[in-house]
Amino acid sequence: MRKIIIDLDDFQPSAVNLDLLLKLKEHFPKLKISAFTIPIDANLIFGKIKKEKVLEWAGLMRKLDWVEFYPHGIAHTPNEWQVNDKKKVEAMIKVMEKAFHDLDLPFKKVFKAPFWQLSKEAGEVLREHGYIIAEDRNQPRMFDDSYVYNWSLEEDFPKDEVLVKGHGHLDGESENALDKVFLDLHYKLPNDAEFKFISEVI
Ligand SMILES: [Zn+2]
Repeated sequence: MRKIIIDLDDFQPSAVNLDLLLKLKEHFPKLKISAFTIPIDANLIFGKIKKEKVLEWAGLMRKLDWVEFYPHGIAHTPNEWQVNDKKKVEAMIKVMEKAFHDLDLPFKKVFKAPFWQLSKEAGEVLREHGYIIAEDRNQPRMFDDSYVYNWSLEEDFPKDEVLVKGHGHLDGESENALDKVFLDLHYKLPNDAEFKFISEVI
């Protein structure tokens, strides 16, 4: 049986396409999703959504036992983790983890930087804090034991991989955003797929 991981970036209260994800789960009852999550939604900071919406979202997320959460930065700002000062990175990790605790949202220690933008120093401090780093397959690897995907969801399914590590986005402009790949996933994913979380294979 082929083992398949689906990771999706940019989970946050203002994200759209959650309904599509629920539909996909109906079609593949054993689906598991590794969700790289933004714990501080910029739309809350800018007053575009209310705190109640954030709490309601977190409550819904907690109920999804087929979704596991992993930190995707703090507020997903450009260059957020392109920081060379290790003391500052220490402080940022505290802010990020507190934001998950404030949402009462359990998370596993796999870190993916927003836009894959991560300084070597930030990566090192995260590793000292027990994090595995998720790195872009299209950029030089920083750490030997990083988590690297081998399938982007808009591509043909990689039939020769024993462990398919798929990557996409919940929403946004990327080609691998869920609304763009949703229909194709129904026939791309093998019906006998054994879905895994990232935490189950690292
Ligand atoms: Zn992102």
